[in-house]
Amino acid sequence: MILEKESLGLLQEALARLEEGFHNLPKVDRSPNLDALRTVLLDVAEWMQDNYPYPHPFYVGQMLKPPTEIARLAYTLSLWINPNNHALDGGRASSAMEREAVAEIAKMFGWETHLGHLCSGGTMANLEGLWVAGNLQPNKKVVASNQAHYTHSRICGVLRLPFQSVPCDSRARMDVAALKKLLQEDDIGTVVVTLGTTGTGAIDPLPEILELQSQYGFRIHADTAYGGYFILVDNLDAETRAAFDCLKQVDSIVVDPHKHGLQPYGCGCILFKDPSVGKLYKHDSPYTYFSSEKLHLGEISLECSRPGSAAVALWATQRLLPLIPGGQFAASLSKSRKAALTLFEKLQNDSRFLIQSPPQLDIVVWVVKSQSASESSRLAKEIFKAAAEENLHLAITNLPKELFLETGEEINWDQDSITCLRSCLMKPEHLDWLDRIWQTLDSVTTKVVIGAVSILYAV
Ligand SMILES: *Cc1c(COP(=O)(O)O)cnc(C)c1O
Repeated sequence: MILEKESLGLLQEALARLEEGFHNLPKVDRSPNLDALRTVLLDVAEWMQDNYPYPHPFYVGQMLKPPTEIARLAYTLSLWINPNNHALDGGRASSAMEREAVAEIAKMFGWETHLGHLCSGGTMANLEGLWVAGNLQPNKKVVASNQAHYTHSRICGVLRLPFQSVPCDSRARMDVAALKKLLQEDDIGTVVVTLGTTGTGAIDPLPEILELQSQYGFRIHADTAYGGYFILVDNLDAETRAAFDCLKQVDSIVVDPHKHGLQPYGCGCILFKDPSVGKLYKHDSPYTYFSSEKLHLGEISLECSRPGSAAVALWATQRLLPLIPGGQFAASLSKSRKAALTLFEKLQNDSRFLIQSPPQLDIVVWVVKSQSASESSRLAKEIFKAAAEENLHLAITNLPKELFLETGEEINWDQDSITCLRSCLMKPEHLDWLDRIWQTLDSVTTKVVIGAVSILYAV
């Protein structure tokens, strides 16, 4: 694997430009001990070889996507300043960039006004969403589907909000009838709707949930940490499209630029439709906020110090690759989705595998056919291992048996869940590499399945 290094030269040029802004300051002598740096840095490089090859198309496992060149360069460039977006005192330019970049994300979801900011990731963004929800609906229950991210129940523990999970239908989406029953029986303050579950990329039926909202009145917090950017693509199925089309009606939205937004880790985003929730964040900092009467982002954020570099990288990325339907960014997401649909078709036409329904985003999860759930799980783990030996890196996940009851397949359920193979086809190159990915999956599966059969006969 060759790492992209061509763009590094630009960093020198940009650093010289940055320097020009401070030319009137006296020079400070500071030259690093290059030999010492070199020794440690090369050690680091060697140690970092102990990783899966995340940037390579043969890595088709977890939610890992390399940051784009502009994000990497802009982030690195900004480190010579190291702005802190807590206050304008700590990062004037980068705070302005954050406000612009976040407004662009809000606009992508259809919001002309909003309150929002960047934070360390989806967990923190969801914490703020539920913290605001809990303030506005004190002591009322928060519910999320049992396929929602585990962070929601844990956050409710932190916030001391009562939490309950809602069963899913056979496609891992929140079961609306079950939600309705809960609403009739209980005082529900907030429904967390996931557009793009972490396990399978399933989309909760937002249009139906909005209908229930008009009847029962609750807040809707949308967790689109993974799926949010798919609002831009042109190849969603009708149901998924319908959910994204009404996303702007929810009260708060989480999206992770460090998942599908081409950013390095440390970049999540929380957005509120009603800017007046900002009053809940009110505090008097005796230390900061002296340089300007204008809004300091620390006044609307639970975290204090925050990396201005994350905002710089995001702003630069969106300048180069605007968040618009039909744009280059949207086209590359559509390619990921196409790759997932192509893999789905191949799996569906292969009698060794069982796959339920087409992916709603770009995550594909499938089962190895076998006489029992335990044997199928064992084979999935074997294939996972054998594929890695051939440099093809998949992921595995456990899914509950309820998700497979409508497949029409006879499975002996000797355990309540099944280990599945899982792939997040997040890189646009995955589409171009799909034939090679499939070839490897095909050959390792043959090896593992034949191995299993010969053991069966040997016994
Ligand atoms: C990844 C993810 C989270 C957690 O976000 P982090 O950035 O890992 O903290 C929450 N919800 C969903 C749906 C996710 O996919």
